[in-house]
Amino acid sequence: MHSFHYRDSKLHCEDVDLGRVAQEFGTPLYIYSAGTILDHYRRLDSALASLDHLICYAVKANSNRAILKLFADAGAGFDIVSAGELFRVRAAGGLPDRCTFAGVGKSREEIEYALDQGVYSLNVESEAELDYINQIAGAKNLRAPIALRLNPDVDPHTHEYISTGSHENKFGIALEHAAAVYERAATMSNIRIVGVQMHIGSQITETEPFAEAIRKVSPLVSELKAKYGIEFFSIGGGLGIVYESSLASGSGDWWQASKTALSIQQYINAILPELRELKLKILLEPGRLLAGNAGVLLTRVRYLKQSGQKKFAIVDAGMNDLIRPALYHSYHEIVPVDEPRSSAREKIDVVGPVCESADFFALDREMPELQEGDLLAIMSAGAYGFVMASNYNSRPLPAEAFVHGNKFALIRQRQTFEDLIRGEVGPTF
Ligand SMILES: *Cc1c(COP(=O)(O)O)cnc(C)c1O
Repeated sequence: MHSFHYRDSKLHCEDVDLGRVAQEFGTPLYIYSAGTILDHYRRLDSALASLDHLICYAVKANSNRAILKLFADAGAGFDIVSAGELFRVRAAGGLPDRCTFAGVGKSREEIEYALDQGVYSLNVESEAELDYINQIAGAKNLRAPIALRLNPDVDPHTHEYISTGSHENKFGIALEHAAAVYERAATMSNIRIVGVQMHIGSQITETEPFAEAIRKVSPLVSELKAKYGIEFFSIGGGLGIVYESSLASGSGDWWQASKTALSIQQYINAILPELRELKLKILLEPGRLLAGNAGVLLTRVRYLKQSGQKKFAIVDAGMNDLIRPALYHSYHEIVPVDEPRSSAREKIDVVGPVCESADFFALDREMPELQEGDLLAIMSAGAYGFVMASNYNSRPLPAEAFVHGNKFALIRQRQTFEDLIRGEVGPTF
């Protein structure tokens, strides 16, 4: 499947010329390939065919309703981390009994909403939260379905901000305390134990941390199955994607390159034998893997600027639109939508208009020679892109568009200036 590639010297997403989409909807603009998202989902789903399983798409990676609807229609479940995400899933036609609700700081309102909607499981991250859920479910006279999120204490070898499965971070319950907490949970009259959950981090590109975490937790999972008849074991998400491709060097295509990361098959091969032994329903919660390489952020070069030895391309997207480079120093490939005619390269910083030095997309990057007005695609922006966008510097949120085959459509309007002040009131004193 070729989702982003040059055809007649124009960058296409599936069969759509990205220049046309930019012309129609303006920039900065997020564009997602529905075909790619579905392809990723189906390949993961079929690799798991020999197991009783459910893929719960991690909504926080990209929560546009059109994307959630795509997953709901494909039969996926959802991993949510707030009541707002549950609301979005419902608005997209997703089923609450396929939703698992994670997060270290659920509020009373969120727990009540999740119970009223009938989520499959509330994934509990502390004893205090367990007590609180028991109390809230008691007031409603029902039993809350729960799984404990275990912290297996493995090092996923990823950026410290997206590592979640070691004892040094706030997530989950330590493995050695888990049996005791389950024992307490079993005595609570408004709690129903339904599963076990873990999630060790994001953008993980080796199989071993996943396999190690499963090996560490499996004995306890078997014990819990025997004791409490749990239904599922959720192994979380975290599969990494490739952010660097051969597209920028003018050869190959994006999709081919992305296959050389940790492939879906390698990942499944590493974890399948152990999981099969458990004879339980296995839940996976991928976000980035499904959406990351399916999206780009289109931006236009506003100005070129030479400052001493340095050259800058100032583009119309900023860190408020895509914060990953500023927040994680993450690498995103950047390619011109019009295929460069010459192979000449120059070193350049690609920066946004926001008043922060962290507002960059690439530093000292070898790029084709750029001109003012050039359209650029910032690749692999489908996950943790728009969802982390803000109005910083009073910049309206960018638009989002969907491509499927030779069709494209807007799925979120660009914000207007009026949107910026909507909801601001008073003061009335
Ligand atoms: C963020 C998150 C995920 C998804 O992580 P990816 O790296 O996008 O796959 C899955 N499960 C939980 C609990 C999460 O917080």
